[in-house]
Amino acid sequence: MERPRSQALFQEAQAHIPGGVSSPVRAFKAVGGTPPYLVRGEGAYVWDLDGNRYLDYVLSWGPLILGHAHPEVLSRVREVMEKGLTFGAPHPLEVELARAVKRAFPVDLVRFVSSGTEATMSALRLARGYTNRPYIVKFRGNYHGHADGLLVEAGSGALTLGVPSSAGVPEAYARLTLVLEYNDPEGLRALLKERGEEIAAIIFEPVVGNAGVLVPTEEFLKALHEAKDYGVLLIADEVMTGFRLAFGGATERFGLKPDLVTLGKVLGGGLPAAAYAGRREVMEKVAPLGPVYQAGTLSGNPLAMAAGLATLEILEGNPGHYARLEALGARLEAGLKAVLSRKGVPHAVNRVGSMLTVFFTEGPVVTFKDAQRTDTALFRRFFHGLLDRGVYWPPSNFEAAFLSVAHTEEDVDKTLEAVEKAL
Ligand SMILES: *Cc1c(COP(=O)(O)O)cnc(C)c1O
Repeated sequence: MERPRSQALFQEAQAHIPGGVSSPVRAFKAVGGTPPYLVRGEGAYVWDLDGNRYLDYVLSWGPLILGHAHPEVLSRVREVMEKGLTFGAPHPLEVELARAVKRAFPVDLVRFVSSGTEATMSALRLARGYTNRPYIVKFRGNYHGHADGLLVEAGSGALTLGVPSSAGVPEAYARLTLVLEYNDPEGLRALLKERGEEIAAIIFEPVVGNAGVLVPTEEFLKALHEAKDYGVLLIADEVMTGFRLAFGGATERFGLKPDLVTLGKVLGGGLPAAAYAGRREVMEKVAPLGPVYQAGTLSGNPLAMAAGLATLEILEGNPGHYARLEALGARLEAGLKAVLSRKGVPHAVNRVGSMLTVFFTEGPVVTFKDAQRTDTALFRRFFHGLLDRGVYWPPSNFEAAFLSVAHTEEDVDKTLEAVEKAL
């Protein structure tokens, strides 16, 4: 597969945009090579600047659960667009989208923002404003966007005090983030016992997608909920999992009881919309009702609300979609395991519903440490072997592959053939 036009443009882009990209993972650093410029999508497929077609397992990193260019979503957006792009005033569609969010999640009030980063950043400010406590807890390998307090990794040794994982994040600020191992209930219980009263909130990915897929253990979910006994707010970051694992996300699927939920990706149906939401008593602290400030010029803008609402209404009106995503996911998982076993490649396939990762290591992969054992050199070859056969897999082993309702059994089978040949 040749990509001369993408190659030339990517080279030129280096002169204008840092690394040629608007978000780092798009630069293919983890896998090498040149990213194709994607210029068209339809259903489960995308086309690049050179006219190559790919079966898409990235789906814009999660939002496109209905596939690309869904006709109903496009027509709703077009209809709204004709009347103007944004007003910076209340709009009927934000009320409708808030109602839809409340049908999906056990929340009373919903505040719309424009990115998942903004949602988690605001939820944490709110948690601190509500509890008057300084510390937050996050887990290694969980990604919650790029706000300062979240670009933090575990300090050395037994310390849980965070250290910056990005230049430009002050150490003093990073120390307010305590970092623990995901799926380590005892570590969490020990920290709560020691410092529970100083912690404002625990933020977590209920199913991790951003370390590759990690599935929460029952005991870990139980330990998370014990935090409430210390007055700690539980923030389920459902930016990736919301409306994907079920209409009510991981909260519905695992019966979680978070104090705050953050949403994004599917919520905007492909346009920039995200939200944080929770029970009235907490959300009432947000301006203009309360003292926690948060605002946005384009927050709740009509186009994003229309795309999100159209997407959620289609999902809600077709509960069979989730059963279908589950079946497609199971087919892909079983097929991958069979091919990899036949070829004698060590592997662990982690999947929940339509989110899946193949780790190239002996399983099980439960913690982030386990995930880091994956053979990234083998992943590179796997990735390029698929790309050259017209399958667009996420360009990093520490990302989830997604299915949409536009994917078919035949698409999955074609993918498995490509995997077989690539291996
Ligand atoms: C994508 C993601 C974010 C960040 O959302 P952006 O819209 O990229 O800022 C936050 N949390 C999780 C779990 C995500 O998957």
